[in-house]
Amino acid sequence: MDKLPKCEANYVALTPLTFLKRAAAVYSNRASVIHRGVRFTWRQTYERCCRLASALNSLNVVNNDVVSVLAPNIPALYEMHFAVPMAGAVLNAINTRLDAKTIATILRHSEAKIFFIDYEFVPVARDALRLLMPGTSMPLVVVIDDIDCPTGIRLGELEYEALLSQGNPRFVPAEIADELSPIALNYTSGTTSEPKGVVYSHRGAYLSTLSLILGWGMPTEPVYMWSLPMFHCNGWTFTWGVAARGGTNVCIRSTTAAEMYGAIAAHGVTHMCCAPIVFNLLLDAKPHERRPLVAPVEILTGGAPPPAALLERIERLGFHVVHAYGLTEATGPALVCEWQRKWDRVSGEEKARLKARQGISILTLADVDVKDPETMESVARDGKAMGEIVLRGSSIMKGYLKDEKATSEAFRNGWFFTGDVGVIHPDGYVEIKDRSKDVIISGGENISSVEVEGALYKHDDIVEAAVVAMPHPKWGESPCAFVKLRDSAAPSEAEIIHHCRNNLPHFMVPKMVQFMDELPKTATGKIQKFQLRAMAKTFVPPPEKRRRHDHRHNNNQDQLMALSRL
Ligand code: ADP
Repeated sequence: MDKLPKCEANYVALTPLTFLKRAAAVYSNRASVIHRGVRFTWRQTYERCCRLASALNSLNVVNNDVVSVLAPNIPALYEMHFAVPMAGAVLNAINTRLDAKTIATILRHSEAKIFFIDYEFVPVARDALRLLMPGTSMPLVVVIDDIDCPTGIRLGELEYEALLSQGNPRFVPAEIADELSPIALNYTSGTTSEPKGVVYSHRGAYLSTLSLILGWGMPTEPVYMWSLPMFHCNGWTFTWGVAARGGTNVCIRSTTAAEMYGAIAAHGVTHMCCAPIVFNLLLDAKPHERRPLVAPVEILTGGAPPPAALLERIERLGFHVVHAYGLTEATGPALVCEWQRKWDRVSGEEKARLKARQGISILTLADVDVKDPETMESVARDGKAMGEIVLRGSSIMKGYLKDEKATSEAFRNGWFFTGDVGVIHPDGYVEIKDRSKDVIISGGENISSVEVEGALYKHDDIVEAAVVAMPHPKWGESPCAFVKLRDSAAPSEAEIIHHCRNNLPHFMVPKMVQFMDELPKTATGKIQKFQLRAMAKTFVPPPEKRRRHDHRHNNNQDQLMALSRL
C-alpha cells in the first residue's frame, strides 16, 4: 500500500480559495454580497476577484508580497480575502480603530507593497503614510470609494473600482504549490503587549474554516451579517466560510443596533458573530431601532468571556448563542462550547452557566490541555485546578513575522501557549478563569476576574463590568470593579458591594467600585484592562472593617483553587 502514488490528482494543497470557485459554479446566481443598494451574485464576486488578482499581478504584486487594507466590512474587503491570495500575495487587514502611528508601524513591519484605504479612513492613512516617509519604501496607495454612493475622495491616483475595471475577469490564478505558504498576516490587537504579526497558512485557514462551519453547525445558504470586523482573524474565517456554504454576506459599515436590526429585518439574516459586548447594543436598542426577529438568529460569540447572565438575556430576545474561545494566533476560535442534547433538560440558569464555559477543541485542533507551564504536568480534570491553556494542531499560526524570539516563546514542548489561565471540567470542557496577566492575587489566593465579573453582571443595573487588581496594603492586591450602569440606574457603591457579597466568597468581593460612562475597549469590543489597571494603581483602598469571615471563607472549592495556584 505504501507504493500507491501521491500525485497531482490526490494530493492537492489545501486552500480556502477553492471555496470561491465552487460557489461561483454552484451558487452562481445566488446573492454573494449585499451592501446597502449594491448586490452581487457569486458569479460576479468570482469575476471581480479574478479582475483584482490580475490587476495586482500587473502592479507587480508577486508571491508573498503583503497587501494591506484599512477598511470596514465592505464588499472590497470581502473580495480581497480571495483576490489577494489568488495573486499569490498575503492579505493584511488592519484594525480600523488604530491610530496613525500604529498603522505606520504595521506598514513598515509588514513591508506592505500595496495599501488599500477605504475613503472614510483617508485622513488617518495619510498621517500614517507621512510617518513612514524617511527611508522606507512606500506602498502603492489605492483608495476604495463608496461603491453605493461615490464621494470622489482620493489619495493618489488609483481607485478600487477603476483598478478592477482594468483587470481580467477570466484570470486563471496559479495553483497554490505549497499549502503551508502564507495567506494572511494579522496583527494582534495589543491588549496585553505590542502588536505582533501573526502569519496564517493556506492549510491552516482551510482547516480552521471547515472546523468552524462544523463546530457552529452552519448549514448551506446562510445569510451572514458582518457584525464582527473582517479584520479580526479574517472574520474568524467566515470570510472564506460563507463562500464554502454558498451563503450571502450582508456587509454593514458599523456595528450599531440600527444597522444590525435593519439588516436582520431587510435580508433575513440567519447568522452573525460578535464579541459579547455587542449583546448590550442589541439589548439596549431604542424602540425605533429595534425590529422583532421573525426567526431565531444564530450568534457565534467569543473574544471575551460572555457572562452567563448576559447569555440568558440575549437568548430571551430570540437569538441563539454558541460560545467559542480563541485568539489571533489560533486563526480565531480554537474551542467551541459544543452543546450536548442532555443539557436541553436543565434550567435556564444552568444552561447559561454551561454555555459560558469556553468548550472543547474544534476538529482541526489535535489537542487542548490545561497545564502547569513550568512542569508541563496536566492539571486535574476537576474544574478547579488552574493552569495555562495550551493548544496544538493545524489551526495554530505559522509564527510571528520577523520575531523568532516571540515565536519560540509561544511554541514550547510541542504546544502553543495561550497565556490564558483555565480549568478543565470532568466532562472535558475547558473554562477560562483569566489571562495570566489579569489574575488577581489577594493574600496569596488567586481571584479570577472573570468570576467576579460574572457576579457583577447578575446585577440588573450593570451593563458592563471589568475587574482588575488594585494594590492593597494588607492583601498585596485586591479586586477593584469598573462598571457601566444602565441608563437612569443609580445604585450606590455599597449596594453593588453588598450584591457581590451575596454572590461570591467574601475574599473575592471588590473593595472598590468605580462608575464609568464608558469602559476603554479595543476595536473588537474587548475591555482594555491594562488601562483600568493603570487607574486602579493610583487608588487607595478604603480601610478594612473587621469582619469575622473576611478572607477566611469556608468554601471548599475556593480552598482548592488556592492550592492549585500557578
Ligand atoms: P489580544 O490578545 O491582542 O486581545 P486576541 O483578539 O487574539 O488579541 O485575543 C485573544 C484573547 O481573548 C484570548 O487569549 C483570551 O484571553 C480572550 N478570549 C477570547 N475568547 C474568549 C472567550 N470565549 N472567553 C474568555 N476570553 C476569551
